[in-house]
Amino acid sequence: MTAKRLLDDCFLHDKDRLKHHEALGILKDRLSAIAEVETVRLEDALERILAEDVTAPRDVPLADNSAVDGYAFRHSDFDEAGGFFRLNQRVAAGHASDIVLGPWAAARIFTGAVMPPGSDTVAMQEDCETHAQDGENFVIIPQGLKAGANCRKAGEDVSAGTSILKAGQRLRPQDIAAVASTGKPDISVYRKLRVALVSTGDELRRPGDLITVGDVYDSNHFLLRGLSAIAPVETEDLGILKDDKALVERTLRDASHRFDVILTTGGASRGEEDHMLEALDRLGQQHMWQLAIKPGRPMMFGTIGSSVFLGLPGNPVAAMVCFLLYARPVLSVLAGGHFLQPQSFQVPAGFDIAKKKPDRREFYRGYLETDDEGRQVARKFMRDGSGLITGLREADGLIEIPEDATQIKAGDMVAYLPFSGFGIR
Ligand code: AMP
Ligand code: MG
Repeated sequence: MTAKRLLDDCFLHDKDRLKHHEALGILKDRLSAIAEVETVRLEDALERILAEDVTAPRDVPLADNSAVDGYAFRHSDFDEAGGFFRLNQRVAAGHASDIVLGPWAAARIFTGAVMPPGSDTVAMQEDCETHAQDGENFVIIPQGLKAGANCRKAGEDVSAGTSILKAGQRLRPQDIAAVASTGKPDISVYRKLRVALVSTGDELRRPGDLITVGDVYDSNHFLLRGLSAIAPVETEDLGILKDDKALVERTLRDASHRFDVILTTGGASRGEEDHMLEALDRLGQQHMWQLAIKPGRPMMFGTIGSSVFLGLPGNPVAAMVCFLLYARPVLSVLAGGHFLQPQSFQVPAGFDIAKKKPDRREFYRGYLETDDEGRQVARKFMRDGSGLITGLREADGLIEIPEDATQIKAGDMVAYLPFSGFGIR
């Protein structure tokens, strides 16, 4: 498994904190899919990751057909004045006709019906007049129609042999519709990653439990459970672990036999009550990164057996930011998808930062707003605390300030990463 190679390197003890782009670069280079491939019916393919390129086995549409309700005719019969055509057949969708259209003959035709042999153009019914004479029906088609008008050509959507989807794509409704249009009933996708969710800390309680001074409700579990839904994973809740060395070790060992990924929050630092690193050391290989970002800093990557370990910080803001920046692309790649990078665009800052530490990248919770002059600007959530869920709630994106910036003045251009670009709102 390629994920293991991640941990064999020597940058483990780097004194310098790893820069954001370096961390992403390493993860991108070293990780690859671990989920196996399975075949599912199209009904079950939504949001799954495609494991094979898909090529159209036949033309779509299969035959030339009418785009409108109207009258099909031979354009070469047309003259300056339009045309007076004898109706010799009626063709509805699903009922192809083999009656050849002779000169000055037309067919009553409906949307989706196959063009009768010899016809090449369709006039819309709204533009035509019909006329009965001596027991025969005629249609008067006005001039001005181009050859081929209102006729959909065989293969104009996709022609047989064309590649329509690529392996690694996350399947959207319109992608599955495209496969269905070619007649393929099933599709090869990666199995969903099995992810264990673990919260750690003596102080943590689940909502509904009694709480006393010093206790904290486990909000991260719900944060990560929700965030995980943006990746093709199945999560299982392993509950809250006390800060107990033996318990942490036992739980991680058991989980490594059952899950592709163990996603934890808390206990990620080197404090006396932080047991993750030690457990990881004993059970597998740890790779802890001190990242030069705010919020976040300690992020753990590792492997235990064939399972990948992702240890997020305990502070909710740091947990969410680290999930979006690092865990999301990692989960996507392990699940067979692409290394996902958020969409970002430049907007004027609607705030000041008087002094920023150089050499680290900062991510603020932000939202877009129209200022007094009608410009769209990025506003920053006022308070910086890494424990404040309020900022996450009020934000609709992240503001990214690069390492080399030491201050920001209102009006400076800054990168804005909307949550929608991460697949959340
Ligand atoms: P730790 O990473 O364990 O040192 O925790 C850092 C901070 O995050 C502490 O204030 C914890 O109480 C808090 N914290 C840790 N885990 C959670 C959680 N699951 N939900 C809410 N807060 C947490
Ligand atoms: Mg803790």
